[in-house]
Amino acid sequence: MKLLVVEDEERIASFLEKGLTAHGYAIEWARTGAEALRLGAGPEVALVILDLKLPDRDGLEVLTGLRERGATVPVLILSARAHVDDRVRGLDLGADDYLAKPFAFTELLARVRARLRPGPAATGVLRAGDIHLDVLTREATIAGRAVSLSEREFSLLRAFVGHPRQVLSRRELLAMAWGMDFDPRTNRVDVYVGPARDGPWPARDGPWPARDGEDLRGTPWRRAD
Ligand code: CA
Repeated sequence: MKLLVVEDEERIASFLEKGLTAHGYAIEWARTGAEALRLGAGPEVALVILDLKLPDRDGLEVLTGLRERGATVPVLILSARAHVDDRVRGLDLGADDYLAKPFAFTELLARVRARLRPGPAATGVLRAGDIHLDVLTREATIAGRAVSLSEREFSLLRAFVGHPRQVLSRRELLAMAWGMDFDPRTNRVDVYVGPARDGPWPARDGPWPARDGEDLRGTPWRRAD
């Protein structure tokens, strides 16, 4: 898997190259913004590590240039410019992550791993058994049949499917499906999960808990296995 390191300081570039190569990544090194633009949009580049202070142009110009060329490659900015405004600007311009120099190599490595981890973003489809959820088109199929879901039902199902075999509390479901990080002490989760348990899914192997289990109100739920 090839990473493009955009860095004009040889000392840092060689440190990155040694460390990343030792962890199994192939490295290409761009010393200037122009080189980065030429190489960064290539299909074989899995991630770009981007310095901002480059000899010929600002790294943020490289970032916008890549995005204008339609490159969706993840970009991790690695810069001594660590002010919150710089971070926000970089992320707003399309960077995926931002790490300030000086940095711990282990943290950089963890961030690289996180960016390259295959996840729903890679395919847009979450799967659990015969349930398929396309998180981009918000289409759901169960056993090959399309299922019509409201926005909220989709979000709830996504929470269950995305956390197989995990018990999800009411609070966690509120956070994942409603975007609320507190429990407003309403029964909205019960209102949705209750009827859904008797809904279009077979009770035993559907995404919701079995309907004839114990009374689950007030206790965590989980997707039936
Ligand atoms: Ca630099």
